[in-house]
Amino acid sequence: DELVARIEGLVRLVPDYPSPGILFRDITPLLADGPAFAAVVEAIASSVDGPVDLVAGMEARGFLLAAPVALALGAGLVPVRKAGKLPGPTASESYALEYGEATVELHPFTVPEGARVLVIDDVLATGGTAAATVALFEHCKAHVVGLSFLVELDALRGRDRLAGHRVETLLHIA
Ligand code: 5GP
Repeated sequence: DELVARIEGLVRLVPDYPSPGILFRDITPLLADGPAFAAVVEAIASSVDGPVDLVAGMEARGFLLAAPVALALGAGLVPVRKAGKLPGPTASESYALEYGEATVELHPFTVPEGARVLVIDDVLATGGTAAATVALFEHCKAHVVGLSFLVELDALRGRDRLAGHRVETLLHIA
């Protein structure tokens, strides 16, 4: 539809970033376009099914979408951070990368048991980050009621790692 075409035109393709062979999707032009940014926030906020208590944003570009969506929904915000950024106490979840591993963390005292959580990031690639984030919230006995992404790289099949969850994406890239 029209919003999807607009998003597509505002996501810049950067070859060989951050490493050779990677085609990076840069969302800064979209963030800099006021009406498009507002439309994206509105689309994500209206895609959720039922009430949301907390919106989780994954560091760092997920923060930029999660905060305005939380305001739009009247929900709280939980930053899901890379290892070592939160003062603690933290809940942590590690996951495998192509080379090595990464860890995501949150402050569990900000996540009440039973909280309904919407998880947001800019790009769904392999799904490792999102799956680890879901595991963090499950550890807190919260309910992930959905995950929303601006862009999904379909070929990487990240969605398969989120089986059983509602996953919404605005722009699919084959
Ligand atoms: P995954 O864990 O799904 O493989 O990778 C997703 C994470 O890496 C997200 O936090 C996302 O921000 C980042 N990421 C991976 N590829 C891209 C990309 O092409 N563009 C942007 N903006 N972020 C990416």
